[in-house]
Amino acid sequence: MRREAKKDPPRAAPSRPTPHASLAGLSKPTLDRLAKLNISSKFDLVLHLPLRYDDETHVYPVKDAPAGRDVLIEATVVETDIKYRPRRQLVCHLEDGSGTNSTITLRFLNFYGSQVKQFAPGVRVRAFGEIRHGFFGAEMVHPRYRIVQPGAPVAEALTPVYPTTAGLGQDTLRKLIARAMASDPLEDTLPEPLIREQRLPKFRDAVFFLHNPLPEVSQQALQDRTHPAWRRMKFDELLAQQLSMRVHHQRRRGMGAPALHVRGTLVSRLLKDLPFELTQAQQRAVAQIRGDLERPHPMQRLLQGDVGSGKTIVAAIAALQCVENDFQVALMAPTEILTEQHYRKFSAWLESLGVGVAWLSGSTNKSVKKQILIDISAGRVAVVVGTHALFEDDVVFNRLGLAIIDEQHRFGVRQRLALRLKGTQASSANAGKPQAQPHQLMMSATPIPRTLAMSYYADLDVSVIDELPPGRTPVTTKLVSDARREEVIVRVHEACAAGGQAYWVCPLIEEIESDGDPEENAPQTIAKAAAKAAPTASPKPAKPRGRGGLEALQLKAAEETHEALTRAFPDLKVGLAHGRLKPAEKSAVMQAFQRNEVQVLVATTVIEVGVDVPNASLMVIENAERMGLSQLHQLRGRVGRGAAQSACILLYHAPLSAMARERLKIIFENSDGFEIARHDLHLRGPGELLGARQSGVPLLRFADLATDTDLLDAARDAATTLLAENPAAARAHLQRWLGGRGEFLKV
Ligand code: ADP
Ligand code: MG
Repeated sequence: MRREAKKDPPRAAPSRPTPHASLAGLSKPTLDRLAKLNISSKFDLVLHLPLRYDDETHVYPVKDAPAGRDVLIEATVVETDIKYRPRRQLVCHLEDGSGTNSTITLRFLNFYGSQVKQFAPGVRVRAFGEIRHGFFGAEMVHPRYRIVQPGAPVAEALTPVYPTTAGLGQDTLRKLIARAMASDPLEDTLPEPLIREQRLPKFRDAVFFLHNPLPEVSQQALQDRTHPAWRRMKFDELLAQQLSMRVHHQRRRGMGAPALHVRGTLVSRLLKDLPFELTQAQQRAVAQIRGDLERPHPMQRLLQGDVGSGKTIVAAIAALQCVENDFQVALMAPTEILTEQHYRKFSAWLESLGVGVAWLSGSTNKSVKKQILIDISAGRVAVVVGTHALFEDDVVFNRLGLAIIDEQHRFGVRQRLALRLKGTQASSANAGKPQAQPHQLMMSATPIPRTLAMSYYADLDVSVIDELPPGRTPVTTKLVSDARREEVIVRVHEACAAGGQAYWVCPLIEEIESDGDPEENAPQTIAKAAAKAAPTASPKPAKPRGRGGLEALQLKAAEETHEALTRAFPDLKVGLAHGRLKPAEKSAVMQAFQRNEVQVLVATTVIEVGVDVPNASLMVIENAERMGLSQLHQLRGRVGRGAAQSACILLYHAPLSAMARERLKIIFENSDGFEIARHDLHLRGPGELLGARQSGVPLLRFADLATDTDLLDAARDAATTLLAENPAAARAHLQRWLGGRGEFLKV
């Protein structure tokens, strides 16, 4: 999660012990500055590729130099002066003898005394910069320049301009990089046939080319990163990622887990009592999970299904298979409300079968909690539901066999790991037995686009529920300007007076442009989002405000809406749910809504995940223009769960920024979560989509999953071939690209 990211060292953190780690001989300040650029080895220097290039390979006569871009000219100093108006500056007149209009003025606003002497009449100067035509003819302001002998050779290659940091000049960086490239043979890690088959240049050639390309190369191909040299870098990077995922996967296969055989007793009784039949897709997922659990290796499966597709029952079936084998189950969800709902569902399904379910919430009182903890460690409760409270140190499982993580994208890798280690804990108490890990089932309604699934999630097995239970009606989405709020209020009244129920969502401002948990977003997100939105969306400057202040503001909005609707609907009961309520109060409101004692629920986004009230068929979302795509999709998924025709009204505040307009268009046109996630990937890029929740998995630097699908496919195939036919090459490649960064291999 985002907050976690701040604690993490930067990706590619320094101190990785690799064979090419040595940056020996550099001063501490230089090393520190390099570390800021994530450079801690010679190979990192080699991979520090230019942002852009300057063309200093051609000297233009002053009179024909093209306007609008940086050019190189060469001319002789005629006269140098310090002028004091409009401010102190060094003004140097030159002449290149190219005929009429062959004079040019160089201006320096900051200069040293030595520069005055340097520009002595008759000296030959080569200057690089953009020519402007002012009142006194052609001039360059603060050009990069060099004193040269007439006829000195020009650069043969384009000059790289690197991303850098304060105190580290381009020249220093260029020198360091050139030295690093010279000191490493940069031998190819890929076997010859693979390079030929992929029609890629050699690694060494690609690297040399990208640092110093020849001037005739298409600048466009460099900029778009479509040049073969770029493709080679991307391919190598993707291949490294694929290989490491594979290695990780194999390692996991090598670990032990309890083999949970189907005994058939509990599961079949649960299915018999259910008021509905499993959909085909649910049955498929159940079968896949069943097979995994029977194996003596830890399952690591992601169960994906759109909002409302029925993942919970699939999880319950998996839980029972575990319980049938006398192992315990931990079910973890990101919010209290969601854990409570799970707790109630699981209790209803399992307790009649004699299976004990416990709920461990942050608000459980001390003595009750103490007893629950004793019961867990004694193995008296079979299923424990909770938030991340579940992996606090005082929770010790007796025999944890399965960890289920709902809305897994809300949890960080670290938190999932912590829960998994619970299993190790328990089994290490059983001295002598091999270390066993619990199986893991992760669930998510945020679909992962194919390319992400193939890269960042490549080590997970995935089951997809691609079918909604029967009897659902598609949700109609409407975009309505908040100027027409009164009409919307009338519409809500009609729907509820006719026996329906409605949600009225007042989002927290923190949720702007994010798909993450509002409670987890750092205030920077707000500032960033506000800054992005500022040019068109808000005439007021975005004041940085504490999270508490914003929350209070939004809470006030929700309270006002609640009051207004209560007044407008004297015949209906209007409830209010928000994050500041005590858990008991929150739960009372939610239950009243569930029982239709409350018809209109005004809520901040506490209802965002998992809430299930089939009779609610109308949802109004205020300030929808501020919300992220996946969040809108999740919210909308709360309606359309019953037989009634459902609608989601997105209220927006005009004028819309281009980004907001695009998002609303996407959510309006699409109902399929996968499609929406795919658009989201395009809009925001995988880094944002993944957030830091995949911390430990190196994000791609060169490849772009939105455009490099062909390379990703090729890299995946190559990974398979290499591991099978040339493991030495695979190892060498991993070593080069990931070095000691094995951290994520362990996740
Ligand atoms: P999600 O996948 O979003 O977690 P849930 O598991 O909460 O969805 O299921 C949504 C609703 O659909 C619940 O009320 C659940 O009982 C119901 N449901 C699940 N499977 C089926 C099915 N096969 N037929 C009918 N209703 C189902
Ligand atoms: Mg759910």
